[in-house]
Amino acid sequence: MTSPVTKPDPSYVRIFDTTLRDGEQSPGATMTSEEKLEVARALSRLGVDVIEAGFPSASPDDFDAVRAIAQTIGNDVPQGRIATEPPVICGLARATEKDIRTAYEAVSVAKHPRIHTFLATSPIHREHKLKMTKEQVVTRAREMVTLARSLCADIEFSPEDAGRTEPEFLYEVLTAVVEAGATTLNIPDTVGYTVPEEFGALIAGIIQNVKGVEGVTVSVHCHNDLGLASANALAGIRNGARQAEVTINGIGERAGNTSLEEIVMALHTRAPLYGLRTGIDTTQLTRTSRLVSLRTGMVVQPNKAVVGANAFAHEAGIHQDGMLKHAQTYEIMTPESVGASKTLLVLGKHSGRHAFGVRLRELGHALEGEALEAAFLRFKVLADKKKRITDADLEALAASEVGRAREYFSLEAVQVTCGSNGMPTATVKLRGPSGENIVQAAVGTGPVHAVFTAIDEIVKAPSELIEYSINAVTEGIDALGHASVRLRAAANDGRVNPQHGAGGTQVFHGNAADSDVIVASTKAYLAAQNRLLAMLGTYEKAESPEATARASAN
Ligand SMILES: [Zn+2]
Repeated sequence: MTSPVTKPDPSYVRIFDTTLRDGEQSPGATMTSEEKLEVARALSRLGVDVIEAGFPSASPDDFDAVRAIAQTIGNDVPQGRIATEPPVICGLARATEKDIRTAYEAVSVAKHPRIHTFLATSPIHREHKLKMTKEQVVTRAREMVTLARSLCADIEFSPEDAGRTEPEFLYEVLTAVVEAGATTLNIPDTVGYTVPEEFGALIAGIIQNVKGVEGVTVSVHCHNDLGLASANALAGIRNGARQAEVTINGIGERAGNTSLEEIVMALHTRAPLYGLRTGIDTTQLTRTSRLVSLRTGMVVQPNKAVVGANAFAHEAGIHQDGMLKHAQTYEIMTPESVGASKTLLVLGKHSGRHAFGVRLRELGHALEGEALEAAFLRFKVLADKKKRITDADLEALAASEVGRAREYFSLEAVQVTCGSNGMPTATVKLRGPSGENIVQAAVGTGPVHAVFTAIDEIVKAPSELIEYSINAVTEGIDALGHASVRLRAAANDGRVNPQHGAGGTQVFHGNAADSDVIVASTKAYLAAQNRLLAMLGTYEKAESPEATARASAN
């Protein structure tokens, strides 16, 4: 990576990851600060050039998370990273003095800080949202970029809804912010409306018509509402953009963002066509995808390009025959190149605490102290039941140990009776917020329903289950079961976080792994309930819920 402020060489495409900002705006993808730090560490190992760590003005929690990432990840070059510099840590700011100063305060502790400020430029946003004239928009953009540049050498500016802005006006705004000191011009198709030819022409127009553009980096930020995010981003790159804003697994508002793995593998697989490269270590893609899926509760569709479970599976006989004769007959990239090769036998029941800790660190999980000890104990229990412990098993174990800080109710014991005759019944014993044990039994339509009903009767949080799934983490009859739960805070209790809009639409996820699927399901449901309780603040005496609205951006 060259200096983050100056332009990289013309064949280098910077990867700007916004999983922790735009991605985290997906309903239900909210992560704890601890989880964000873990994802940021994985992104740094993957080799992204810029990590957009969050929106510091959204809430004190967001500020603290961005600052923690800037402080640690922003000053560290992890082992195995191709680049020799820590990634740039970026904070988002609306075009206001308060937002810009807050963003700078959060990122300034990083070795390479960046402020990303944005202002809408399209007629519909100017008239209905901002109530500003064209002249006012230009003036505000220039003033705010000047202010940001007085604080920080690395400034990105985004004209929000650029895809629907009059081109002449877009050039005018962009010329003004380049004069004011912006170093990256990011062009968002905020609403995912454009098609590739059009978006490519938009970028070409900017490169031809914006004064001073040759001294700055042009960036693309595409949304997937028409399934065209990757195609649009690539069209932008073909026309001169040299930064792509992306998220792991393509998560993001509505239909999501451009997916990092698709852009990187398109540039990599079709290198002779594009003549471009990135600093990404592609063999970390599958691992990073898995981590983000676990942390956000956003399950990756099996047929997802590059990182889906079926991305390298060949089912048709004629394909299998071809594959056996010569892999490249039906394979344009190898599973090894994205780190999706068959998982290896790594540890068994005789492996010690040290080997376990070392392997987890190699996999990118920095568990320490009690969390490491807890994961190790669970590993020993699992190793007794299961002969082969794979990386995927270990990752599932490590994953369950993070984000446990605010555990109001924890599982002591669960027992179910079920079968073809009789009524599925569950008995659940939980440890409550003041350390007391609470036992509750319930009947349900099935064992999982019975467990969830018993928990509801103990926890009494207003919620509604919207999704429950169980998957095998690895192959075989002794596979670890991974349960994933999403629930919605019930409406009309008046205490729903405004973050995801009024009306109680906020979604909470929980996931857990265990060799017993009922235990995995129970833990996942409790994890989601604990997140809901944390939001409601039921058990925090002194704290009042912060009512800072999070503006959605880009
Ligand atoms: Zn966006």
